[in-house]
Amino acid sequence: MTHLTDLNTKEKYKAIIAKSERLTPPGAEEVREILLKVQSPEFVCKVDQSFGVLIETETEFGKSVHHRLYSVADLPSENKGLLELTILVKRCSYIDDFNGELYDGIASNYLCDRKIGDEITITGPFKLPFIVPEDKNSNLILIGLGTGIAPFRAFIKNIYHEVKDWKGKIRLFYGARSGLELLYLNDKNGDLTNYYDEETFEAFSALSPRPHWSDPIALDAAIEARASEIIEMLSYSNTYIYVAGYEKISSMLDKAFSNILGSRAKWEMRKSELKAGHKWAEIIY
Ligand SMILES: Cc1cc2nc3c(=O)[nH]c(=O)nc-3n(C[C@H](O)[C@H](O)[C@H](O)COP(=O)(O)OP(=O)(O)OC[C@H]3O[C@@H](n4cnc5c(N)ncnc54)[C@H](O)[C@@H]3O)c2cc1C
Repeated sequence: MTHLTDLNTKEKYKAIIAKSERLTPPGAEEVREILLKVQSPEFVCKVDQSFGVLIETETEFGKSVHHRLYSVADLPSENKGLLELTILVKRCSYIDDFNGELYDGIASNYLCDRKIGDEITITGPFKLPFIVPEDKNSNLILIGLGTGIAPFRAFIKNIYHEVKDWKGKIRLFYGARSGLELLYLNDKNGDLTNYYDEETFEAFSALSPRPHWSDPIALDAAIEARASEIIEMLSYSNTYIYVAGYEKISSMLDKAFSNILGSRAKWEMRKSELKAGHKWAEIIY
């Protein structure tokens, strides 16, 4: 896994906030879709990449730069020669384990608070591990939690609009706390439901049974409910599993796939085969 500190942030570029729209309703976790107009023509960022946002911060030890990555959440486009990129940002806050105080995440709050016309500094681009397989008969199981939908939205659009003629199955499993937080799969914004007409595409959503109690999102149950199809897909050597979202997702998936395959050992073996064949990729944050 690449660490943020390994990434080269020497090249910096300016981008203007062209749009910032809250996708979730008041009372739910705030997630914003932000459109950036990159001001530097030399900055190129593709659909399967992420880029960094750099924020100067002042600490008791002096000035420092806070760097965080965001996945491209739509097909990049060009407007009057300037690259336009969409990102999906969740406003984060954390409770400090030691003093119990609530802290705001630096980059996510910075981005969510930016207004139209504000300038930000970006760097990159950086690779995402979600490669479109060369063989269009390949099967893809895409699993996202929260803003983990961002790279998969771009990925699915890329497959159906640019790669085209996909023959393998694509199954998207997406978990959010409540129906209104199901980004791009709800009544107001059903961007991803546009692909329901595609013979090869199906999406399944999972919610938290009691969102106000922070009960876990039942992504494992949604996956286990499709056990027979998943077992079949996993029996083919051209099946890929791609995972994105916050860290809770890993243990949830290990549990679900172990249940589906009948034991932890069987899943561990299949997962190592997927990893060895470069058919398992994840971004966990
Ligand atoms: C490849 C990749 C792609 C990603 N794509 C997306 C995406 O598309 N959308 C998205 O929303 N996120 C994405 N992320 C996550 C994103 O990069 C950030 O990690 C996230 O937005 C939180 O960053 P932050 O600066 O707001 O929080 P941070 O400031 O980095 O806070 C994170 C940690 O610092 C601690 N902390 C925070 N504030 C304080 C404080 N004041 N004092 C002490 N401790 C504190 C918290 O305990 C927490 O563990 C991605 C990550 C990766 C690696």
